[in-house]
Amino acid sequence: MPALTPGDWTVLARLEPVAEPADERSVATVTTAPRGLEGEGFPVRRAFAGLSLVALDPFVHMDQMGEVDYAPGEPKGTPWHPHRGFETVTYMIDGTFQHQDSHGGGGLITNGSTQWMTAGQGILHIETPPEELVESGGLFHGIQLWVNLPARDKMIPPAYQSLEAEEVALVASPDAGALVRVVAGAVGPHRGPGSTHTPMTLAHVTLRAGAQLDLPWEPGFNALVYVLAGRGYVGSERRPVSTGQLASFDRGGWLRLGADSRPDTPDHLFEVLVLGGRPIGEPVEHYGPFVMNTRAEIAQALEDYQRGRLGVIPPGALMPHVARSAPPEPRARPVERP
Ligand code: MN
Repeated sequence: MPALTPGDWTVLARLEPVAEPADERSVATVTTAPRGLEGEGFPVRRAFAGLSLVALDPFVHMDQMGEVDYAPGEPKGTPWHPHRGFETVTYMIDGTFQHQDSHGGGGLITNGSTQWMTAGQGILHIETPPEELVESGGLFHGIQLWVNLPARDKMIPPAYQSLEAEEVALVASPDAGALVRVVAGAVGPHRGPGSTHTPMTLAHVTLRAGAQLDLPWEPGFNALVYVLAGRGYVGSERRPVSTGQLASFDRGGWLRLGADSRPDTPDHLFEVLVLGGRPIGEPVEHYGPFVMNTRAEIAQALEDYQRGRLGVIPPGALMPHVARSAPPEPRARPVERP
């Protein structure tokens, strides 16, 4: 698990112990992500399945991409497609996506870096493994998160933030048994590089076997913990959670995460994504790649897309790489982690 993982966590800034023990958040729900296929057929877990849009607000959708170990010729991505009315956030933990959009953006997302794309009034984009990764195969693991925009920002011009792994704010628990990577928003006084349209926090947390983390969390934010790999517990009631499970929390000023003493992962780590924000509190109409406030706005988005008003595929555009030789036997399978 590369992401951005320094060898020595004791040299990092440390979180303060929580000030108000009584203000701990309890668990509201635990759900298990079903498996699916996305884009040209890469395996995902639908992290938010089973939770209402009200409980997710300001988020809409999240896929854990992989974790999968591809054979040569097997890596897949998405073809060109449109978005309007929200932001797509692609965080790569292992492996590489190459991307390009109709607004002039493009580049590589790899090993701990994040593409934070604001679709706003409309954009077309592609995310695909680079040619050398298609040919070689290899590990692929990441997250794609959809962040809603408030009505006032849904039709802003598209924008793009390339958040490099080295820019992420790193902070350790008081005993340095847990590493917190703040991608956007803040954890206590530690602020990540991502800029957001409404207040929110997105962090990737790694706990060593047996470690515990008391994470300060803005009282006005919802709180979601999604398990990327391993086994541990969450909340004041120490609810057990494992790979592919999502916990949502009741209100409070901080939340507890803990790793099993034997997390059953090859690297003996418990990996979670922690995210939450101030609810936008507006009606959400989600249809395919569009997230708007009303059905009329969805109909308008479909018409605008068909008329080419969301952008056009640029000349000489990046296209999915077709492997020179197909693999003799399909081998790709999700990496099973209990
Ligand atoms: Mn997309």
